[in-house]
Amino acid sequence: MIAENLHRIEQEIQESCALVSRKPEAVTLVAVTKSVDSNAAEELIKLGVGDVAENRVDKLLEKKQALTDYPQVKWHLIGNLQRRKVKLIINEIDYFHALDSLRLAQEIQKRAEHQINCFIEVNVSGEESKQGITPAELPAFIEALAELDKLTIVGLMTMAPYEASQAEIRAVFANLKQLQVQMKELNLPYAPCKELSMGMSQDFSLAIEEGATFVRVGTALFKEGR
Ligand SMILES: *Cc1c(COP(=O)(O)O)cnc(C)c1O
Repeated sequence: MIAENLHRIEQEIQESCALVSRKPEAVTLVAVTKSVDSNAAEELIKLGVGDVAENRVDKLLEKKQALTDYPQVKWHLIGNLQRRKVKLIINEIDYFHALDSLRLAQEIQKRAEHQINCFIEVNVSGEESKQGITPAELPAFIEALAELDKLTIVGLMTMAPYEASQAEIRAVFANLKQLQVQMKELNLPYAPCKELSMGMSQDFSLAIEEGATFVRVGTALFKEGR
């Protein structure tokens, strides 16, 4: 089942790339394993998936410990991170997708033993329930990170609004793409900002059409049937 799901998702990624003349290699499938155990994660890794994500610190550490046979795997923390947990996790991951405050960035700077690839989470849709920096705050936020030499700002991340139409979701993704281009054009050495982490099981095709370079897919990999 997992193999079939993966195959179908990889095909959909290729089709979405073809629609907008992008190379499939430009899109990284990040497998979100929060709803499954480490055996299911291992199955995916054996099928060639190289990027695994969890949204909680304890779950990521648990999976990583169970999967030490696969040192090639890149680990992504995609959920919000409490400052008191930074020291537990920051040196265990390759990417952090939810940087959303200066205090958190300062804690990462303090605890990191190597360069940490971070995405700034942007609340494009302006939903009050959502995490993330607003688009208006983004330029000042990114400039405030200049002193923190342990963080590399690789790009921007967003979550599409819940229960939105296809058109609304597409607009959110297009908006994040625009912001990413603007941030990249600041030419800040610590913030190359080339990547876009957007799109989940329901909307990764739309996200790819709008420029996603990392899609975070969970449910679609593990569900039964079609
Ligand atoms: C759970 C989660 C995903 C994956 O969602 P699915 O709908 O299961 O594909 C992606 N990003 C974040 C931040 C998540 O928490």
